[in-house]
Amino acid sequence: METILQIQDLTVNFDGFKAVDHVNTKIEKGEIHFFIGPNGAGKTTLLDAICGRVKPKTGSILFTGGVDVTQYSENEIVNIGIGRKFQVPSVFTGLTVQENMELAAVKNRSLFSSIFHKTNKEQEELIDDILDTIGLYGKKHQNSAALAHGEKQWLEIGMLLAQKPRLMLLDEPVAGMGRAETEKTGELLKKIAKDCTMIVVEHDMEFVRDYSSKVTVLHEGAILDEGSMADVQKNQKVIDVYLGR
Ligand code: ADP
Repeated sequence: METILQIQDLTVNFDGFKAVDHVNTKIEKGEIHFFIGPNGAGKTTLLDAICGRVKPKTGSILFTGGVDVTQYSENEIVNIGIGRKFQVPSVFTGLTVQENMELAAVKNRSLFSSIFHKTNKEQEELIDDILDTIGLYGKKHQNSAALAHGEKQWLEIGMLLAQKPRLMLLDEPVAGMGRAETEKTGELLKKIAKDCTMIVVEHDMEFVRDYSSKVTVLHEGAILDEGSMADVQKNQKVIDVYLGR
């Protein structure tokens, strides 16, 4: 197995409060690695540290090949191949599905630049491939405002893919989805993970059970347990602080 991200002794403080507390873990290439745990456990802060939004007090984050990205800016992190999707979809609802993808592919998200930065042939082919993968090829000329909630989430995942990341961070990708959309999202993540490893924060335990390669349980900023979902869900401490509630 090849490690794509290694987190060593990572601590993030907010005014002396340890939101992330000496975390050590490895993310393996090609996996869908879930972070679970109660509200306030530090899951979002951990994603924020990986994508350069917050700076850790101690520790390091090593990306594939041992590149130390701990002090990289958010832009540098994106450029090295780590994409982050937030919980609320941020597609441009005044634009078509295709136009949203073009904006993402030219890497500059201002509307102004989209008028002047035309995509090239290679980008157009990439966009078509991605639209096919996310199941929105048939809707490429539709205004994105008319998409269903799930479709907006898939479009945003597609927009991240247009930047060719090697690692993607997703915050609650199936929140607000029904079972059918949730399953489609799981199948999509499985497809994508072959080329782009996934770190996912999620509260939907059925989804985690069905689609996780590995699960890290956080509690009060620290790792409580780690392993397959089948293993961690048997851990009495995990049941006490999270699963059994
Ligand atoms: P989770 O995503 O697991 O719900 P968070 O990472 O959002 O947890 O939060 C972990 C802890 O850090 C919480 O106690 C939260 O209140 C605190 N926290 C998060 N962000 C900030 C911030 N910007 N300033 C102060 N405290 C914060």
